[in-house]
Amino acid sequence: MPSVCIHGHFYQPPRESPWTGQIERQPSAAPFWDWNQRITAECYRPLLDAPIVGPHGEVVERVNCWEHLAYDVGPTLLRWMWDEARDVHDGIVAADRAATARSGHGPAIAQGYHHAILPLCSEEDRRTEIRWGLADFEARFGRKAEGLWCPETAVDTPTLVALADEGVKFTILAPHQSAQGEDVETDHPRLVPLPDGRHIAAFFYDGRPSRGVAFDRWLDNGEGMAHRLASGTGLVHLATDGESYGHHHRHGDMALAYCIRTLRELGVPVVSHGTWLAQHPPTEVMGIREPTSWSCSHGVGRWSRDCGCGTEDGRWRPKLRDGLNALRDAIDEWSMPRIAAASGEDPWAFRDQYIHTLLRDSGLDTGQDPLAGREDEALRLLLEVQNHRLMMFTSCGWFFADPGGLETTQILRYAQRAVELVTEAGGPDLTELLPTVAGLRE
Ligand SMILES: [Zn+2]
Repeated sequence: MPSVCIHGHFYQPPRESPWTGQIERQPSAAPFWDWNQRITAECYRPLLDAPIVGPHGEVVERVNCWEHLAYDVGPTLLRWMWDEARDVHDGIVAADRAATARSGHGPAIAQGYHHAILPLCSEEDRRTEIRWGLADFEARFGRKAEGLWCPETAVDTPTLVALADEGVKFTILAPHQSAQGEDVETDHPRLVPLPDGRHIAAFFYDGRPSRGVAFDRWLDNGEGMAHRLASGTGLVHLATDGESYGHHHRHGDMALAYCIRTLRELGVPVVSHGTWLAQHPPTEVMGIREPTSWSCSHGVGRWSRDCGCGTEDGRWRPKLRDGLNALRDAIDEWSMPRIAAASGEDPWAFRDQYIHTLLRDSGLDTGQDPLAGREDEALRLLLEVQNHRLMMFTSCGWFFADPGGLETTQILRYAQRAVELVTEAGGPDLTELLPTVAGLRE
């Protein structure tokens, strides 16, 4: 009899205007105001209370799927839920608490804060993305995260070292990211060796059921899905886009509820990664292929070069990466010495702490706001420059075929806002370093 772990990666690209903080109306999401509202109604909220329907159409049971899944939810999505769908935000947190009370290990794990591709980040940005993700998690869930989802499961050795440095115990990777490639046995986690002699645990997910949910319509039949999962051995675990359950696949929430109930009837334990790790500490060592990710078969090309993924012509991708890297360097050269002078502290460490200011702004005071007790608007402005220049590396900007689409436009708007904030703070005009859609298409 196996144990089953169903991981949902819940994420939406940030949609807020960098000028107003509000999401402008998205007509394609009608009848809803925007896609966050629509996907919340189709997926995030229904998963809290998914009905199981009997033979005569009557509801025979309701399942809180969040208590049985394993999951990561994007910090920027949770921030939106906190403001716009508090019942869902709090329901997700409560589900983690309930599951933690049962097994001692919660189903929720953290995520890199702005969904940047960690192997493509500067060392300082990588650390900030991880630290902000972990701090945001702890503020919302009231406990430390045991695991962290690397956006697009993109990893290399420096990324894994940075995770271990922050106390992260495990991450989740695609089977092809293992040193053995697709052939790796996925029924138990491995210890990935780090150069300094430490290890970090990696769960290489089972590709077949993960593809089954994403592409092969396993969610047409939740009972059948349960029987397929129950036929495995050891730990059967899949990694899926959480939005599969109700948004990408209509009524996928109900199929998942049926699957969970059927697994229970079959006596198959449904577990989280943390629970499994505590009960079955890994001993087998396995390296990774690097840099690699789950949605590009060329490493991390999809976010840095014309690798062929998702578009006929990806020549704009390296231009965007190089352009934003050059803008980053110019912004840092001007702003970091000023943050150091104004704060009297290491500016990178001070930036790492700035997440606590953002949390306090949201009404989640952690007591660690680095600006508490400082009436320093100039310093605050410098940190907002950094916040926006971090947001411009959100991976969605590279993912799709055309740089004129919503997602690339969004990260260019963050870049533009960062440039404006530099001049507001008395710095140089960096406008000519801003990539443009026209320039990317040349
Ligand atoms: Zn690729």
